[in-house]
Amino acid sequence: MDAFPCENCDRRYRYQRSLNTHRKYECGKFPEFKCRLCEYSAKLKGNLKKHLIRMHQMGESAATREILKAFANC
Ligand SMILES: [Zn+2]
Ligand SMILES: [Zn+2]
Repeated sequence: MDAFPCENCDRRYRYQRSLNTHRKYECGKFPEFKCRLCEYSAKLKGNLKKHLIRMHQMGESAATREILKAFANC
């Protein structure tokens, strides 16, 4: 059982310092950019865009913008 749960998400850590690192560098800072068409998720918006173009043959289309728009604040 990992003893240090993050208050902001559902991750748990064995060591306090791991939790600190997570909260400082990961939690909230790198939101997951989830693909709506499959299970893929990216750490960076640009990666999701590449994924859409490569895996789903989506170009610079309205549909691509629509998906990326959901992450406008990230
Ligand atoms: Zn967290
Ligand atoms: Zn996908």
